[in-house]
Parts: sequence; C-alpha cells; structure tokens
Amino acid sequence: MSDGRLHADVLIIGCGIGGAATALAAAKAGLDIIVITKSHDLEESNTRYAQGGIVSLGPDDAPDLLKKDIFRAGDGINNPEAVNLIATECKAMVEGVLINEIGIKFSRNAAGELDYAQEGGHSRRRILHVDDTTGKSIENAFVAALRKYPNIRLLTDHTAVDLLTVPHHSKDAQAYYREPACLGAYVLENRSKVVRTIFAGRTVLATGGCGAVFLNTCNPSTAVGSGYAMAMRSGARIANMEYIQFHPTVLYHRDSDGFLISEAVRGEGARLKSVDGRTFMDKLGGLKDLAPRDEVSRAIYEEMILTNETHVLLDLASYTKVDIKTRFPNIYATCLKYGIDITKEPIPVVPAAHYCCGGVLVDLWGKTSLRGLYAVGEASCTGVHGANRLASTSLLEGLVWGIRAGQRLAEDRSRPAEYNEDDIHEWYAPAHPEEVDPALINQDWLTIRSTMWNYAGLVRTSKRLERAKADLEYLEHRIDKFYREAILDPDIIRLRYGLQVALMIVRAAFANPVSAGAHYRID
Ligand SMILES: Cc1cc2nc3c(=O)[nH]c(=O)nc-3n(C[C@H](O)[C@H](O)[C@H](O)COP(=O)(O)OP(=O)(O)OC[C@H]3O[C@@H](n4cnc5c(N)ncnc54)[C@H](O)[C@@H]3O)c2cc1C
Repeated sequence: MSDGRLHADVLIIGCGIGGAATALAAAKAGLDIIVITKSHDLEESNTRYAQGGIVSLGPDDAPDLLKKDIFRAGDGINNPEAVNLIATECKAMVEGVLINEIGIKFSRNAAGELDYAQEGGHSRRRILHVDDTTGKSIENAFVAALRKYPNIRLLTDHTAVDLLTVPHHSKDAQAYYREPACLGAYVLENRSKVVRTIFAGRTVLATGGCGAVFLNTCNPSTAVGSGYAMAMRSGARIANMEYIQFHPTVLYHRDSDGFLISEAVRGEGARLKSVDGRTFMDKLGGLKDLAPRDEVSRAIYEEMILTNETHVLLDLASYTKVDIKTRFPNIYATCLKYGIDITKEPIPVVPAAHYCCGGVLVDLWGKTSLRGLYAVGEASCTGVHGANRLASTSLLEGLVWGIRAGQRLAEDRSRPAEYNEDDIHEWYAPAHPEEVDPALINQDWLTIRSTMWNYAGLVRTSKRLERAKADLEYLEHRIDKFYREAILDPDIIRLRYGLQVALMIVRAAFANPVSAGAHYRID
C-alpha cells in the first residue's frame, strides 16, 4: 500500500553519530529536516555500542603523528586529503561539538585532566572515552540535542526502501535527457506497512555499516548496509567494499551475541594467549599485541587453526596496572554475567566482522556522485580508512563529515533538479501480496552469513570467492522474486539489502587480487 507524501529541505536516513551530527548542523542553520530510523528506539545504532572511544589529539600529540598512524593502518590506500582533514579538525570538532555543545563528560584521570587512552595501531595516547560506554553517551546526548529543534522531525519505525531518483522513478520521458538526481526516498512505516514518499531537496545516507552479513559479528543484526544497497541501485559510485575489518576480540560465549572486548583492553596491557597459556603475538614484532587489528585478527585465526581450537584467550588480569572494574565497568559486568571474572581469569575471544572501510564515495563535504545525495559515517567512503581503519577513528569520521555535510547543506538550498512532483511514480505494490514465511527468511540469512564468513572472511582465495559469488547470485534471483511478491515488511527489506551488500563485498574482493589491509588473499 502507498499513501501520503512528506516534504523537507533535508531527509536524513539514520540517526547514529553521522546522521545526528548532520541534522544538528543543518538544523542550526534553519533547514527543515526529517530524520528517519528503522528502529523503534531512536538511539538504536552501531554508535550506541561503541566502547573504546573517539580519537582526539593527546598532550604529546600532533596531526602529523595521527596521519602517520592512519596511513600505516590503511596500508597507504587512504585519500590523503581526507586524512589531512580528519587529523587537523579532530580536536576542534571533539571539543567544540561533543564537549562544549552537547555536553559529553569524557572520563578524567585522578588529577581531573581528560584521560587519553591508548589503542592498537596508535603511537600516542589520544582516545577520549566515557568509561567503556562512549558510544552510548554520545548517542544519547545527540538525540537529546536534536529533540530541542522544532525544525527537526524525528520518525522512528520508518524504513527507507529505496532512494527516489530521476529518471528512474519519473513518468516523464524527457527526464532521461537530464542529469540523474536523488529527490528523497520511499519509506515504509513499519507498523502500518504503508509506503510513503518523502520528497527532499537533499537526501543523506547515514545508514551505518554491514557487519551483520557475516556469521560472526559484533554489530547488531540490523547493520546490513542498506545505504550501500540503495546507493548501488541508484547508480552512485561505491568504493573499497572488499575492505571489511574484523575485530580481533569478541567474547566467545554461546549466549553473548557478539559482545565486543574493546582494543582499549590491550591498550591497558592485556595479552593474547593460546588456550594452553602461551603468548603468541611476539612474532608480529613491533607493536605485538597492539598491532593493527587485521594483523591481530589473522594471528588469532592462525593460532586457532594451529591449535585446532574455537577461540583464544585475552589475559588482562595478569598484566594490567589499571583498576579493571573502574576502567572497564561494562566489560567487567557483562563478562561476569557469563561467569567470567576478568579481574581473575582470561577472557575467551574470537575475531568477528566489525567495520566496513568502503562505502558510498564522497568528497570532503559528504557529497556523493549522484546529484542531491550525500552520505556520512560508516555508509560513506571518505577515503580516511584506506584498506583498514585505525581504531576509534570511525566515530570521529561520522562527527567530522556529519557536521561538514550539515553546513554544506545549509549553504546549498537549490532544488536538486527540475522536476514536477506529479511526474513521480507512487510506490508500486503487487495486487495480491503474500505473507512472508519466516522459515524462508531465517534459512536465507543463515546461507548468506555462513557463505560470507567461510568464503569471504578473514582469509580469501579466488576459489572461495568464486563459490561465494555463485551461491549468492543463485540466491539473489530467489530473494528478488520473494521480495516482489511479498507484503512489504522490514524483515524482507533487510534480507534483500543483506544479499545485495554481501554480493557487493564478494564481487569487490574477487576483482581485487592484491592483499592490502583488511583484504587478505592467499592465492
Ligand atoms: C560493538 C562496537 C564497538 C565499536 N567501538 C568503536 C569505538 O570505540 N570507536 C569508534 O570510533 N568506533 C567504534 N565502532 C564503530 C562505530 O560505532 C560505527 O562505525 C559508527 O557508530 C557508525 O555510525 P553511523 O552514524 O555511520 O551509523 P550507525 O550508528 O550504525 O547508525 C545507523 C542508523 O541508520 C539507521 N538505518 C539503517 N538502515 C536504515 C533504513 N533502511 N531506513 C531507516 N533507517 C536506517 C539505523 O536505525 C541507525 O539509526 C564500534 C562498533 C561496534 C559495533
């Protein structure tokens, strides 16, 4: 069913740090904004689960040192302009927006000074945190700030189904002779199952990453990369989708649902050990346990193969000098819930899909290659991360590009293209849609996630990727048919996005024979 049209200067899809920062900056400039999220709870996002913190510059630090660390982690495949921007703007953005404007109270040391933490891949202590629940504090504060603006409409339980683009959704044959543009989106009201058309002068994809297309992940199950799929279908440029970062240390426990053990734990001295108690990171040389996360993840993967074990151990209790309960209250409490006292015993851990370094290609202001479309946060590819992300730079990237995109939107109020609203198609729905059988959805997800984990995960070969491509392409036809005949609901939309994103990753990985950063080929 399709009904009702909404209008705004700016439509922002997603309300994690990227979407919220964009909304804040654009709202301050007086634009009329609609923010939608597919979840019932406005705060639900990857941002909410970020633990370690956000990069700023520590006392003995400088932009050039940060740049060097970002390039090293990214294997030099980074965009130098984007790296320069984030390194020079980080301190001002973190202090100006997070501390002064929305009031984040970052943790302080005994002397009352900001406590700069260390994480893997960083040559300085430069990560600001709120205990070990930094993302939750940032997300809550942003949402509270957005609620104060009457010119922001916050719509929860609204799932973007497709970007509204011309000429694709136009009835006007002449539209094909004009530049393609994005005019908003078709959005499902989750509960009523009505699809509404939202027209906007500018649309911002702030839909986050896609860890949930892999069997083992620390992302919530909602993180299936819908923005990548929508952008691909609309013809916007996408880059670097093969660079999926795996977090080395996710709690290994049947019931833990991918609970992440932050790299800050290794920053505070914890060491990785095999199940029989041997340390094994010395072979990496240099930074050892604090090496970039792809190197650590693969070392764990190799150790698991060598020992034929399902996990390794992370020993904080034997090495750290900090008070564990005070520094890591959330990790302590969560592990204790699963019967592991981290002040006394090591934590069983495995690697898991964590972060997508690629995405919708944008410039330094978040503009994509499609007129009228912006992208920010994990949905975008700014080029900051190159082939691999340096720890705790993603919240920062969402903040910096979000604020900049919001400012640019405010300067650029022109309509994206000449069009007549009456020439735009209503959402098309089949005459006799069918109920979706959850058994089919669950089985298709299992196939997608295990295919991605086994064939397109930490260690890739052309044979594995070829097999993944064939299996997923076969599934694509079935899911597409299923989607077109079904009563539209969030689960079937999510499955279709997930499949399309899995294929984007596999095709990019297959096409790139060169190992770099998080993309590791052994053939
Ligand atoms: C466990 C964990 C720990 C992390 N720790 C850190 C850390 O310490 N430091 C750091 O820098 N980074 C960390 N990260 C990464 C970081 O949290 C994310 O990269 C970042 O929060 C992404 O922000 P975002 O705004 O791009 O997307 P998100 O915060 O994921 O927000 C996406 C939004 O889009 C909405 N959405 C998605 N699809 C649709 C759709 N089709 N229709 C409507 N709405 C939609 C979602 O509901 C949500 O509101 C961590 C990630 C995880 C999972």
